Amino acid sequence: MRIYRSPLLLRWLFPSAIWKGDDKRAVYLTFDDGPSEALTPWILQTLKKAEVKATFFCVGNNVKKHPELFQQIQEEGHRVGNHTMHHENGMKTRANDYLQSVDEANSFIHSPLFRPPYGKITLRQYFQLKKRNIQIVFWSWLSYDFDPNQASEKVKMKAKSIKGGDILVFHDNPKSAETLTESLEEVIQLLNQKRLTFKTI
Ligand SMILES: [Zn+2]
Repeated sequence: MRIYRSPLLLRWLFPSAIWKGDDKRAVYLTFDDGPSEALTPWILQTLKKAEVKATFFCVGNNVKKHPELFQQIQEEGHRVGNHTMHHENGMKTRANDYLQSVDEANSFIHSPLFRPPYGKITLRQYFQLKKRNIQIVFWSWLSYDFDPNQASEKVKMKAKSIKGGDILVFHDNPKSAETLTESLEEVIQLLNQKRLTFKTI
């Protein structure tokens, strides 16, 4: 089963994390896992054409490999956030190692925003990040663009339920290339028709 909406239990466990945006007339588009040679240029071009600003949660190691793409993301007015150094799963990583990965990634990314890969984080990691004033950002709507069994038509259909204040997740990841390139422009059009604007986190 695909859970497009974030579970209430998690919202209760991590109350000071960001789950939704404050502006109910806006949506908050986010792209995880980049930068990537395969998709970042396409995403940037698509956002520019649509006059949309977004937030990119980047993997430190990818920033290290593609500093020019990372720079371009920021030069084009988008916001960046941390998504660990090597896309670690918090549930499978010791708290100290996890923190170290976040710190190392931030030496490339320099952002107070952080999104845990897979949305998976332990309470201990959560409190340690919070102590460092790192703002954890989850989401309220997940596109499942990374799922090869999900057709892009389904993403577009599910996008009809998006409302103001929603934080949307797509992926700047070669795995998502087909679904993303087949759905992003139409999803943006649909949200424009709903008279929603786009904001960064
Ligand atoms: Zn990720």
